[in-house]
Amino acid sequence: MEYKRIIIKIGTAILTQNGNLAEDRIEQIAQFIANLKKNSIDVIIVTSGAVSAGFTKVQLDKKILANKQALASIGQPYLMSVYRNKFDKFNITISQILIIEADFDSRKRTENAKNTVNVLLANGVIPIINENDTVATEELAFGDNDQLSAHSTFYFGGDLLIILSDIDGYYNKNPRLFNDAVLQKNINFISDEELNQTVSPNNQFATGGIVTKLKSAKFLLERNSAMLLASGFNLPLVEKYLLTGERDSGTLFKN
Ligand code: ADP
Repeated sequence: MEYKRIIIKIGTAILTQNGNLAEDRIEQIAQFIANLKKNSIDVIIVTSGAVSAGFTKVQLDKKILANKQALASIGQPYLMSVYRNKFDKFNITISQILIIEADFDSRKRTENAKNTVNVLLANGVIPIINENDTVATEELAFGDNDQLSAHSTFYFGGDLLIILSDIDGYYNKNPRLFNDAVLQKNINFISDEELNQTVSPNNQFATGGIVTKLKSAKFLLERNSAMLLASGFNLPLVEKYLLTGERDSGTLFKN
């Protein structure tokens, strides 16, 4: 297949279940990534879920910003310990990269991060990126790993971003509200109207909703890159696409 380096963004809905980290699902993700690695695809993860992981340990009121940051600080090492445990089963080493959007404004810092990522991938390590929530207050307020993952894709030389969400693709209208909504398999243009719709995340810890995913897709389309929005509950579908080019579902944003 055409993809050599991909970024996989894993949303909160996939990482958590009934208020806990969904360890079985994280293991399935590790297995999926191990399969991709065997097929010579380099993978970088952008992970959400630190705040909800923190909340399983200490129940602070998330509506207060400093509490939310504290939850991220508690949850981040917990989340990473689960990733490490699961990737260990496949003899894969992981690493942690904490970054803020402003880091991409600095050519020097972007270059440093890219060099680090290249060394990690060259040595078979999976970098796991998250927002540095303790300092990124603005980012935490908008809560937006979708756009962080789009920036990571472009600046770290990825040729595809895969957003694993709890929805199987982008519909012509919100499928939770309209049961005649139709999944759009291929998109090469995003209108301003679509970008300005009301944000509607599906879960109390989810923050982006569909709009931040569309912004990410637009960012990548404008740079001749690509994005796949697919369900994190259906990894075989994504694996089949990456390995054979055949795709039964998901939305591919590509020029
Ligand atoms: P994540 O935690 O994976 O980032 P979000 O809950 O933030 O997920 O965003 C995905 C949700 O966006 C879907 O579950 C769905 O409820 C909502 N949504 C709103 N409009 C649409 C649309 N047109 N197509 C797909 N999903 C939509």
